[in-house]
Amino acid sequence: MRLTVLAGGIGGSTFLRGLLKARPDADITVIGNTADDITLFGLRVCPDLDTVMYTLGGGISKERGWGREDETWVIKEELAAYGVEPTWFGLGDRDVATHLVRTQMLDAGYGLSAVTQALCARWKLPVRLLPMSDDRVETHVVIDDPDNPGTKKAIHFQEYWVRLHAEVPAHQIVAVGSEKAKPAPGVLDAIADCDVLLLPPSNPVVSVGTILGVPGIREAVQKTAAPVIGLSPIIGTGPVRGMADKVLAAVGVESTASAVARYYGARARDGVIDGWLIDTSDSAQLDSIAGAGIHAQAVPLWMTDETTTAAMADAALSLAEALRR
Ligand code: GDP
Ligand code: CA
Repeated sequence: MRLTVLAGGIGGSTFLRGLLKARPDADITVIGNTADDITLFGLRVCPDLDTVMYTLGGGISKERGWGREDETWVIKEELAAYGVEPTWFGLGDRDVATHLVRTQMLDAGYGLSAVTQALCARWKLPVRLLPMSDDRVETHVVIDDPDNPGTKKAIHFQEYWVRLHAEVPAHQIVAVGSEKAKPAPGVLDAIADCDVLLLPPSNPVVSVGTILGVPGIREAVQKTAAPVIGLSPIIGTGPVRGMADKVLAAVGVESTASAVARYYGARARDGVIDGWLIDTSDSAQLDSIAGAGIHAQAVPLWMTDETTTAAMADAALSLAEALRR
């Protein structure tokens, strides 16, 4: 069975572990979000690709959910001792090696997809990980400029998320470079030639949304013969972890499972999903989702451990079978 998954970082990779447990023999392609990418101290950092790579490769910090296990922070401390900015980004020593290899290969002219493949070879990933694009796309967030009251400014998504903890209102979210980006090699084929396309409970705006925003990807998702099934990252009226509600508010979407389903929209009505899983505690929203032309089911959606996450993956694949056209 060929499965293709459009994934962000923590939500995406946690789901992928469950999917691998549910379908260990599946041929899985992951299309990773690269709009979180940032250059720091000359190093190209790809947080979402690395979270997927470390999680599935066994190198992730279990406690933090990002970065490496057994990490040390000497480089970060030394940089801070020089007083150089930014100090808010967690660059661990082990992690830096990944960014050094990536930056060196990019500088030598390799595309990000070739670099990602080389990095993943070390981790013997049980999936094929493709960046959404080899072209640079970077999410920026428009906020009130604290230094110039009455004016606004755009900051990199990482600064908004990591330094500001999404605590200031986001007026607008812009994926800079998106219009000119091309899907990375293999991305459109992985969407066209799969048996099921899955949208894990990743951030609908700054993870899955930026992947779909690369010209050609949304169209490929709309056209594929495979059923497209999503899982809600929202349970109740907030994100399960993280701050997805802040970026949903910026695009005018309520933080509920049904509002996110409508935001994606039914493929039959020019949207991108056929089926949508919501948490059992939200089952009162099933009718409203059906009203948007989307086949919804309520199942437990807390990814508390691999077994419950595997059950979510199973439910998504069963819904896909029921909807196969
Ligand atoms: P990021 O790039 O690291 O922010 O990760 P993703 O975009 O892949 O996923 C972030 C989303 O995962 C957040 O919106 C969370 O609400 C969602 N999420 C995290 N844990 C869970 C969980 O246990 N269940 C569900 N349904 N969603 C979750
Ligand atoms: Ca991310």
